[in-house]
Order: sequence, then structure tokens, then C-alpha cells
Amino acid sequence: MTTGRPARARTHRRPRSRTLLVLLALVAAAAVLGVAVVVLPMLRPAGPRPLFQMPVACGETWQLSTYPGHDDYDVDFFPVEGEAWGRPVLASYAGTVTVAGINGSLGGRTPENPEGPRGRGGGYWVKIDHGGTWETQYLHLLEPPLVEVGQKVAQGEQIGKLGSTGNSGAPHLHYEQRRGWEKVETHFDGTPSGITTDDREQILRRVSNNCPAVS
Ligand SMILES: [Zn+2]
Repeated sequence: MTTGRPARARTHRRPRSRTLLVLLALVAAAAVLGVAVVVLPMLRPAGPRPLFQMPVACGETWQLSTYPGHDDYDVDFFPVEGEAWGRPVLASYAGTVTVAGINGSLGGRTPENPEGPRGRGGGYWVKIDHGGTWETQYLHLLEPPLVEVGQKVAQGEQIGKLGSTGNSGAPHLHYEQRRGWEKVETHFDGTPSGITTDDREQILRRVSNNCPAVS
């Protein structure tokens, strides 16, 4: 009878350790899967650059600018002529709206009170996914965006009105193009803007070719 105990102990211990191993393997597999779900989309190769257009009306001349401390590649749009407040902000390219809401806080700058209290961050803003990891962002809109999350927009479709919500000194549109979660030099109508750094003030003018398709 001296062999009974060790034998029983072995048969009890083995399944327990096997269960533990299986559990550990499952946990490890779940962790790997979780990381893969988060990381793999970020490693997707970028698609070709969409033919982005300026986010403002066809044929209008706008000032594109940046200043020290802005952030590399960020572009501020100011109209050369006419009232800035309320000007239509247009989708640069077709895509799906992924953000339409408030970034930071709105503050109180309106056409009636342009020197009102400054908000924080981007204020009313919109982000559009154009596929191939390309996206565009539109900040400081005057009012709640005219589009909602999940909505498909066409190139040139109005997504909001130009304003000064968030951390904004004067009514303008803060605009960015991103590829694979990184900001890149903005391109319009196939031509780079030339705004690649915020180490100095830069102001240039361009005419929007965000025009309705000719059928
Ligand atoms: Zn800006």
C-alpha cells in the first residue's frame, strides 16, 4: 500500500498543472490578440495620397499661415476678402466623419463678442477618415458641426462654419492632414503647401480648387 499515495498525488497534481498551463496559454493568447487588434491597424500601409482640395469655397483666395509654437505642418486659413465668421468649411476630400464635436472647451468668442473669453483646444471640430490611413481635421468651428459621426461626406460638402471656438485668437480655420496617425505636409490640388515647420512665421496665398465635379 505504500505506492498508493504517490500515485494518487501524481494523478491529482498533473491535471491541475495542465489546467494552469492551459489557462496561462489562453491569457497569453488573449494578450497577443489584444495587442494585435490595437497595433496592426496602425501598421497598415498607407494608401496613395488623396487629391485633397483646400477646405474652402471654389475660386476663393485664402491666406495659409503658421507661426512659432503652432505645430509643424498645421495650417491656419484666413479669407483674403470678406467676413471670416461663418464662412463655409468644406470637406477636402470624400470620406467618413469620425469626429464631430467639441475638443477642449468652446470659450465665448462669437461674431457679436469676438474678444470674448478664449476656450481651450480645438473647440467645435471635425475629423474625416479618407481611407488608406489618411485623415483631415478642421478646428475652431463657429457652431456645432453640420455633419455627424459615421456620416459619409463628398468632396466639397460643407461640414461646418468658420469660427473662433477653443483656443483661437481670431476667426480662422485650423487645418491638418494626417497619414498613419502622423501629421504630414498639407497638399492641395496635388501641390504641397510649403508649410512644413513652425520655427518661423509663414504666410502665403492660394486659390481654392475645391470645385464641384464637372459632369
Ligand atoms: Zn492653428
